[in-house]
Amino acid sequence: MADTANKTLDPRLNRRGFLKGCTMAAAALGLSETVVPKMVEAATSGQRPPVIWMHFQECTGCSETLLRGAHPDLANLILDIISLDYHETVMAAAGYQAEEALHDSMKKNRGKYIMVVEGSIPTKEDGIYCKVAGKTALDSLNEVAAGAAAIIAIGACATFGGVQAASPNPTGAVGVDKLITDKPIVNIAGCPPNPVNFLGTVLHFMTFNRFPALDQLKRPKFGYGRRIHDHCERRAHFDEGRFVEQFGDEFHQAGYCLYKVGCKGPETFANCPTARFNEMGVWPVSIGHGCIGCTEPAFWDTMTPFYERIPDVNIPGTGIIEDADRLGTQILGVTAAAVGIHAAVGIGKRLIKGKSGSDES
Ligand code: SF4
Ligand code: SF4
Repeated sequence: MADTANKTLDPRLNRRGFLKGCTMAAAALGLSETVVPKMVEAATSGQRPPVIWMHFQECTGCSETLLRGAHPDLANLILDIISLDYHETVMAAAGYQAEEALHDSMKKNRGKYIMVVEGSIPTKEDGIYCKVAGKTALDSLNEVAAGAAAIIAIGACATFGGVQAASPNPTGAVGVDKLITDKPIVNIAGCPPNPVNFLGTVLHFMTFNRFPALDQLKRPKFGYGRRIHDHCERRAHFDEGRFVEQFGDEFHQAGYCLYKVGCKGPETFANCPTARFNEMGVWPVSIGHGCIGCTEPAFWDTMTPFYERIPDVNIPGTGIIEDADRLGTQILGVTAAAVGIHAAVGIGKRLIKGKSGSDES
């Protein structure tokens, strides 16, 4: 297995790093380690899927997070298991040469290539707000998608429109699946997404010839099937009503829950607490910043202000504390209400403990 891998892989990517990357992807996918040899076999078969990577309205942060991670083996692994035929940011060619590479790959691999889209697509005024090589993003999307076997939308912009689609959405920006409806599409949400979720999706596609199971927003369930809040290491503080009141206070220093300073973990579905980032074993909440809900649609509108709870509706029937946070159930639904009640109960427990003088904090 390893010999085969070393024959076909970039020499920068050693066997250990390669196996580690596959093992990480298998773990993220929720698969047993026994599937790793099958993944390695698929990734080293020499039949690397051709990938055409289009950039539209975006900041290139998704590519950056893949290529500049603290763990270079991951970037190398991704680049070694696919044949990246067109990617404006990393390809050496430019201008006519780049266009030629794009059209050559589209022609040669028609019906077989994976299209990756980074960035939202403007639809107002016939899409004039984003043009590459004289074509609108809208036209390029339709042209390249027509010959694709499948499409991976990567990042908040390509999945749900991103910051460009925030109200009043001046360019009419939308995500890919609002425009393309006749191809398999997977949404790797996040701003930026965790590279492990991209890697796991690609390896799953290569190993099983299909995308992993998706949720109703087309996000792979392995990466977006659970709430941040349910796996957060600060959850015990939430349950006991121990909250940071403001950044830098003694409770912040003690690692208490960030709910009252705006953490949107209770409303957000992603694997950040378990997958973590940058080989450092950290994620935003672990280093003291609340989740801003970047894997959810329209989070720039529905999750702001980022540093406040969403003030909309009284939590009915709790009556435990008069200053318990209110939650925006119209926007966030029943889950939010349930979490609010839970938070209020936690705060209530804390007050009761405080009154009886038994509060350990
Ligand atoms: S509210 Fe945020 S910080 Fe608190 S437990 Fe939930 S995810 Fe963690
Ligand atoms: S913790 Fe929240 S805001 Fe941060 S990357 Fe994960 S989902 Fe996005």
